[in-house]
Amino acid sequence: MNNIREILKKYFGYVDFREGQEEIIKNILNKKDTLGIMPTGGGKSICYQIPALIFDGITLVISPLISLMQDQVTALNSLGIESVYINSSLSQRESNEIFKNISLDQYKIVYVAPERLENEYFLEQIKSKNISQIAVDEAHCISQWGHDFRKSYLGIPRFLKKLQSKPVISAFTATATPKVRNDIVGNLNFDPDIYLNGFDRKNLKFTTVKGVNSLAYIKKYLKEHSGEGGIIYASTRKEVDSIYNELLSRGYKVGKYHAGLKDSEREEYQNRFVEDELDIMVATNAFGMGIDKSNVRFVIHNNLPKDIESYYQEAGRAGRDGLEANCILIFNPKDILTQRFFIENNQFDNSREIMDVKYEKLNAMVNYCHTSKCIRSYILEYFGDEKIENCSNCSNCLDTGQTEDITIEAQKVISCIGRTGERFGVNMIVGILAGSKNQNILKWNLNKISTYSLMKEYKQKEVRAIIDLLIGDGYIEVLKGEFPTLKLTKKAYSFIKNRETFVRKVAQVDKKISYEGE
Ligand code: ADP
Repeated sequence: MNNIREILKKYFGYVDFREGQEEIIKNILNKKDTLGIMPTGGGKSICYQIPALIFDGITLVISPLISLMQDQVTALNSLGIESVYINSSLSQRESNEIFKNISLDQYKIVYVAPERLENEYFLEQIKSKNISQIAVDEAHCISQWGHDFRKSYLGIPRFLKKLQSKPVISAFTATATPKVRNDIVGNLNFDPDIYLNGFDRKNLKFTTVKGVNSLAYIKKYLKEHSGEGGIIYASTRKEVDSIYNELLSRGYKVGKYHAGLKDSEREEYQNRFVEDELDIMVATNAFGMGIDKSNVRFVIHNNLPKDIESYYQEAGRAGRDGLEANCILIFNPKDILTQRFFIENNQFDNSREIMDVKYEKLNAMVNYCHTSKCIRSYILEYFGDEKIENCSNCSNCLDTGQTEDITIEAQKVISCIGRTGERFGVNMIVGILAGSKNQNILKWNLNKISTYSLMKEYKQKEVRAIIDLLIGDGYIEVLKGEFPTLKLTKKAYSFIKNRETFVRKVAQVDKKISYEGE
C-alpha cells in the first residue's frame, strides 16, 4: 500500500492527518464500506480523495451542490489531481468528451449531482466504466431527518445495482444524529464501518445570551473585539438589512448576504469577506455553505436557528484555524414564533409528518437555550457523541456565579403536571400553578385541584422560566401535536422518588424575558 502520509504531503501539503482521517482512509483502502461523520471543516474531502488517488479507476463523488463541485474540481486540478464534474450545464459535445476521457482513465475523480444518476444517457455511459469508489458527500441529504433532504439521494442504491463494477462505498456527513445515521445506512442499503470523529471543537467557546437587546449586545461585542472578523446570522432579510445598516453607519467594514440581493452583489460581498477586505458579514443562513475562511473569530446568531444541526454547522464556521473563537446565540423567545411560522408556511415540505420532525428539532434547539448543563455536551450528545460534565469553555460551565436551590418549585411543577394527567400544555400548567382565574381553568374546575395556586407568589413568566429549565434539562418533554402537552420523563419520576435537588444559576434567572404572544 502506498504511504498515505506521503500522498498527504505531496499532493495536499499537510504534515499530519486530522483526527479520524487516517483510520477512515485505511478502511476505505481495505475496500470496506465506510460512513465518516465529521464536523464541518473537519476535512472529509481528503478521506475519499486520497483513496481515489491510490485506487485504479475512478472515484465517483455524489455531491448536492454545483458550486461545491466546481470549487472542489478547481482545487483538485490545481493540486495536479485530474478531476471533472458532470452537470446539466454541459453541452452534449462536452459530456461526450468527458466520457471519452473517463474511458481513457484520464480522471481520478468525477463529481456528479444525485439527479444525474437517473439520467439514461449518463447511466449507459458510466455503467461499464472502472469505478473503484463511490463517495456520497453530504450523506444526510438522504434522510428526512437531515436538514437538506434530497429525494434523488434515495436513487443511489438503484444506481449502484446497475454498475458492472462493485465499488467500495464511502459516505460523509457533518450532521448525523443517531436517527440520521440509521437513515443513511438504511437508505443507502449498506453496512458500513462507522467513524464518528472530532465533533468537539475545543477552540470554540459556546455562549447563550438571554434577555438582552440584541443590537445593543452586538454593538458592545464588536466594540470589545475590535479588529476581529466574524459572521452575524439573522433569520430574515429585513433583520440582516437593519443590522447591516446600523453597523455600516458606525463605520464597520461590513457586508451582507441574503436571497433578496442580486447574485453579483452577493458574490462581491462574499469575496471581499473571504479576502479579509470586510471584517463582518451579516447574513441569513443562505451564507456560508462551502466557504473556506479560516480566521472567522466569532459567529453571532441574532436569532434562534431552526435546529441544532444548522446551529452547529453555522457556528462551526468560526475558528477553523484552530485558534480561539466565539459562538454566541442570542436567545429571544419571540424567535420561537418565527421558526414555527417557517415550519407552518413552508410550501414544499408541508406534510404533517415532516412538520412534526421539524417541531421536534426546534424543541431540541429551544432546550439548548434553556438547559443549565454544559451546552457543548448538549450538542455533542445530540450528535451521538459522548457526554462531558464540564467543558470549561461554554457559558454554563464558565458561570461560577451564585446558585439558587429551586427543588421545591421543581417538585411543584412536576406534581402539577402529574396530577392533571399530563394532559395540558405549558400555558395551562403555568396558569394552574400561578392561580390564574382564566376561563378554561374555571371551566375545567382546575381551580379545585390540590396544585392550584401552589406558586401564587410567582409571576406567570417566572413559573414559565422554571418549566423551560426543567424541559431544557430533560425532566419534562413537550409532546408534539396540534396542542403540545407536557409529559414527565423518567428523570422527573426519579427526581421525586429519590428526593433529588434542583439548582439553577442565578444568572439564568432572566427578568427581562417576555413571553407575551407565545
Ligand atoms: P469538510 O468537507 O469536512 O467541511 P474540507 O474537506 O473542506 O472539510 O476541509 C476543510 C479544510 O481543512 C480544507 O481547507 C482542507 O484543505 C483542510 N484540511 C483537511 N485535512 C487537513 C489536514 N490533515 N491538515 C490540515 N488541513 C487539512
